[in-house]
Amino acid sequence: MAQILAPSMQWQMRMPKYSNIASPMTTKMWSSLLMKQNKKGTNRSSAKFRVLALKSEDSTVNRLEDLLNLDITPYTDKIIAEYICQNNTISCWNRIGGTGIDMRSKSKTISKPVEHPSELPKWNYDGSSTGQAPGEDSEVILYPQAIFKDPFRGGNNILVICDTYTPAGEPIPTNKRHRAAEIFSNSKVSAEVPWFGIEQEYTLLQQNVKWPLGWPVGAYPGPQGPYYCGAGADKSFGRDIADAHYKACLYAGINISGTNGEVMPGQWEYQVGPSVGIDAGDHIWCSRYLLERITEQAGVVLSLDPKPIEGDWNGAGCHTNYSTKSMREEGGYETIKKAILNLSLRHKEHISAYGEGNERRLTGKHETASIDSFSWGVANRGCSIRVGRETEKQGKGYLEDRRPASNMDPYVVTSLLAETTILWEPTLEAEALAAQKLALNV
Ligand code: ADP
Ligand code: MN
Ligand code: MN
Ligand code: MN
Repeated sequence: MAQILAPSMQWQMRMPKYSNIASPMTTKMWSSLLMKQNKKGTNRSSAKFRVLALKSEDSTVNRLEDLLNLDITPYTDKIIAEYICQNNTISCWNRIGGTGIDMRSKSKTISKPVEHPSELPKWNYDGSSTGQAPGEDSEVILYPQAIFKDPFRGGNNILVICDTYTPAGEPIPTNKRHRAAEIFSNSKVSAEVPWFGIEQEYTLLQQNVKWPLGWPVGAYPGPQGPYYCGAGADKSFGRDIADAHYKACLYAGINISGTNGEVMPGQWEYQVGPSVGIDAGDHIWCSRYLLERITEQAGVVLSLDPKPIEGDWNGAGCHTNYSTKSMREEGGYETIKKAILNLSLRHKEHISAYGEGNERRLTGKHETASIDSFSWGVANRGCSIRVGRETEKQGKGYLEDRRPASNMDPYVVTSLLAETTILWEPTLEAEALAAQKLALNV
């Protein structure tokens, strides 16, 4: 569609009070670079030019955008809080999701802007209304745990990460955040200030055929090689989504640290961290929610399946980079080696907590180690645990656990890493055996 660039002199004066509101994206935005405009001009880009569409595809959508962008702050103190839960914390909403994750949310009006989750009310939820919980004792209570700025609604509106409890205040069995928060508040663990840097990989699928974005329907693209960190219409598919998500995360206050195109075409990665303790899980869950919402608007399906396409195509992981205070300090390499030793002795426990369908991904090929055996190495991407060259050289730093799948629960993975390396102790005998086997002299 044709478009013209026109200087916009008065445009700045029309900026609403909260001019840093991220502009909501329409379903059309993905497929077209065109910024739809109407007379009022809702383009919030700071460019001196505004883009004018010569032809509006659907004027109804334009008018909706006006309302979606309404700045309500001059008229009311009230804000909208989007309460978010993930499938593993809310049994009444549970189902097997196509993406491997299942996030649900609902909106609540709050009387004034808030800065801390403790200012927010808990929220009763009647599980029986979904037909998935028995009529008696069906209530689930959502506890607000972390808040982020809402990049979709802008203003003082917020996203709220919740976990779930019975009316008696017991965490429901699938509430993984509760257990993780317990581990992170253990004084031995908090004294070690555990840092996590999580590399979230994901695959974008064409909505109707559930086949990767950019792939010919019913056929395959050229073999892997040119796509990783690639640019160009034949190598990079879905950059607008990755980029929109990057900005949405920064706006929300998520500790996102980077993004890159992946080895398999249509697959992307972003990194969150380093984050301390329970924050890592809260930030990853919120970033996943943003990605679900952005792909929804783009008409593209998000998949966190660890191996979306069988054969000679990379799977999707969630490498978890981890360090403790002792590992980051002088001589930390010794603590890193001891942590690797402990991890080797609990390989099975970790694998069983590292995501559904991970056995399809951890084959020993495509930059993975076999699911059946534990291995570690410096700069080796075919190992369960990789230690960076820099860490070896400096004698301190962090380790990378390459085993977690893209659909892992970050509350489970981060807290298990802390538990295994800070709280858990093997027997001396097991330790000696493992040290010998792994050539780890600790
Ligand atoms: P890779 O080389 O495996 O692709 P990335 O650069 O994608 O690694 O991700 C590395 C992650 O590790 C980043 O999120 C980064 O913030 C995080 N990180 C860096 N230093 C530490 C540390 N000391 N402890 C934990 N995580 C760290
Ligand atoms: Mn990476
Ligand atoms: Mn990667
Ligand atoms: Mn990695």
